Amino acid sequence: MIDPAPEPLLHAQGLVRRYTMRQGFFGRPVEVRAVDGVSLTLHRGRTLGLVGESGCGKSTTGRMVLGLEVPDAGGVAFRNEQMPHPASPEWRRLRARMAMVYQDPLGALDRRLDIGTQVAEPLEIHGIGTRADRPRRVEALLRDVGLRPDHAARYPHELSGGQRQRAVLARALATGPDLLVCDEPISALDVSIQAQVMNLLSEVQARTGISMLFISHDLRAVRQMSHRVAVMYLGRVVEEGEPDDVLHAPAHPYAQALVSAIPHPGRKGGRIVLRGDPPNPAARPPGCAFHPRCALAAALCAREVPALKRRASDGRLVACHVAHGEVAPNEGAVPTAISQPLPTREAA
Ligand code: SF4
Repeated sequence: MIDPAPEPLLHAQGLVRRYTMRQGFFGRPVEVRAVDGVSLTLHRGRTLGLVGESGCGKSTTGRMVLGLEVPDAGGVAFRNEQMPHPASPEWRRLRARMAMVYQDPLGALDRRLDIGTQVAEPLEIHGIGTRADRPRRVEALLRDVGLRPDHAARYPHELSGGQRQRAVLARALATGPDLLVCDEPISALDVSIQAQVMNLLSEVQARTGISMLFISHDLRAVRQMSHRVAVMYLGRVVEEGEPDDVLHAPAHPYAQALVSAIPHPGRKGGRIVLRGDPPNPAARPPGCAFHPRCALAAALCAREVPALKRRASDGRLVACHVAHGEVAPNEGAVPTAISQPLPTREAA
């Protein structure tokens, strides 16, 4: 049974990351806010799922949590300490308590080195154990992720995709981290292997009590893995809560559209088809960034950015003027999205 109130491990407050892009060869530089004021809390032994379309800022958020990118504003507190600048020696000490699993295991591994050498690398870097006992530690790490000791002598191209991701996980766990950031960890794997890797991550969490930030565009994977879910749209969190709330009965219109794309026998209502292209971060709409695609958009939505706050009626954390009852759907505005019934089994 899960502790109902484990202590927070990580708190990200108001993270902002901006880039400058040039549109065309002679175009003016344009500021892009890839992440625009994201705050998240992750508790010990729990998994926070971060979900949204490609380009919504979820990977950049994960990289800022790990200190791989320096936020332009905001900060991260980890184990009750403010994360220092990555250039400081203090950062290395805290960073050793964090690890990452990448989308592409082949890209994450060095093709020229055998698996044993790569799993041993973090042990050497952080001075864990002696040179003599490292082979024994590597063997234990490989066994922990379902690989055999003889896999240590193999090179990445000699392993299957699933085995490579297990090797990446063994290397990530070598320092005994408190936090694992998993950035699309199953999207490069065959469907048959995806469930194995997700089960392995859950087993590792049950055994070690590690916390995970699980970043994915796959709602089914997020639902299976997460104790809490945050939905991002164009650099902001638009809804956050328990998976049963957010992924079964979402309150935000964008989350409703995402969830409606997954066929579910018990769900009422049709699939919500969003009009318009996925948003361009270099041309963020004013007010609610989702308003050009939202079926409920009111005139207020084009003027005012909705704050992520608790809804009085049920305590749901959502950033939407209509969900909070601040305005009626479509008040003073023309609908911009349409709702279509899900295809029947025969028609699909
Ligand atoms: Fe945004 Fe308004 Fe739609 Fe809510 S109703 S998601 S505030 S456009």
